[in-house]
Amino acid sequence: MLLTAMTLVLAADNHHGAHHHEDHHQAVAARLEALSADVSEARLRADLDAMVGFGTRHTLSSQTDPERGIGAAVNWVLREMEAFGLEPVRVCDTATGPRIPEPTLVCSAVGIKRGTERPNDVVIYTAHLDSRVSEVMNSTDDAPGANDSASGVAGGLEAARLLAEEQFPGTIIIAALAGEEQGLVGARILADYAKAQGWNVIANLNNDMIGANCGSDGYCEPDVIRVFSEGPRRQGNDAAMRAAMHRLGGENDAPSRNLSRWLDALADRMPGIGLDVRQVWRTDRWGRGGDHIRFLEAGYPAVRVTVPVEDYDHQHQDLRTEDGVFYGDVIEELDFAYMAKATRLNTAALAALASAPPPPMGVEAEGAVQTDTTLRWQPVPSADHYKVTWRRTDAANWGADHRRVDPADCSAEMCEVVLEGIRVDDWMFGVASASTEHLYSPVVSAVPGGDFAPIVEEPRE
Ligand SMILES: [Zn+2]
Repeated sequence: MLLTAMTLVLAADNHHGAHHHEDHHQAVAARLEALSADVSEARLRADLDAMVGFGTRHTLSSQTDPERGIGAAVNWVLREMEAFGLEPVRVCDTATGPRIPEPTLVCSAVGIKRGTERPNDVVIYTAHLDSRVSEVMNSTDDAPGANDSASGVAGGLEAARLLAEEQFPGTIIIAALAGEEQGLVGARILADYAKAQGWNVIANLNNDMIGANCGSDGYCEPDVIRVFSEGPRRQGNDAAMRAAMHRLGGENDAPSRNLSRWLDALADRMPGIGLDVRQVWRTDRWGRGGDHIRFLEAGYPAVRVTVPVEDYDHQHQDLRTEDGVFYGDVIEELDFAYMAKATRLNTAALAALASAPPPPMGVEAEGAVQTDTTLRWQPVPSADHYKVTWRRTDAANWGADHRRVDPADCSAEMCEVVLEGIRVDDWMFGVASASTEHLYSPVVSAVPGGDFAPIVEEPRE
């Protein structure tokens, strides 16, 4: 398919009736599905071959060997990124830690697809490039890291290819991070870099293992992808916020949770991809972690996107056969049809997030001891309109209840809508920004800590 002919901009439409609203949604979903339809299992496989071909990509492996080790792998990813029109940036810092005994330069490959209208609004796809075997400090043995997480890097590069001919108002960043297995180090460095750039980070989609869907017991779920999100936000969650949350609720409405709901709804709107999002409402798998945690610590909305079922025989293992069982994270264990579906969903998500206006800030609800509820928020300059939505406090996801608000209804400082006959006590409220093409930001919940921006912390005395 010729992607040059495609654009997310639909014809201008002044109708806003309910059925037109549905038409818009279907048209947008069809566009997003089409945008990702050219995904290639062959290209994903070729990328896996290239990455596994570096022998090991351990963070403490060679940075100068042209053929083996993390240095050669980072250089390869940067060249690929440049070929797909991304600005390649080597983001580095010297790190030490429990798993990095000597000061070591940790460099990640970061590709920037600069937004045409709002370059400071960024969505960041991450996957870790580094790999390991059974012993986490072993930097010399072959560590293919095919699923964990060359699959994520390949998905990011394929998304960059699929979107290469497209332009978006917001910025899309694809990052292949080093240092994950040594303590989420590359992610910490990139979160610091984002802060230094002053980026408005709307979302981090951390794709750590998207290449398979079966466990070692043979249990498979080829039509499911998991999205992990934190509960109460980690950053800025001080005593004052906890007290406010204790009074008003909001423990289930941090920005990362709403990003998770947004991804789930997006997948539901694109049945052609054939992937259902299973939202898992915890930060990461039981007792384990990933790079998105560094973004959460920095106050950026972040989720882990990952396989539905893990195969523990084929991750973090020395390549070996024991009692007739093969151990190792090798290409032969991957399912490229599944990886292609995961890549399509990510590609559509990146395109939609970079097309929608940023989520509104300062969303607040008011209405104690009244029969009506009033919602207020700060206007978003690039928003065509807003969607105010509400759900029962025990409802998992946002539903059909919503009200459209136009910028004409806002002052320069504040948008305000009164929901008549809706008692504030029994509902959770939120607001999303929308583009002219009806691409929506994630919903921002009107709760303590609901904002998508990092919480500004008071300097300690
Ligand atoms: Zn991993």
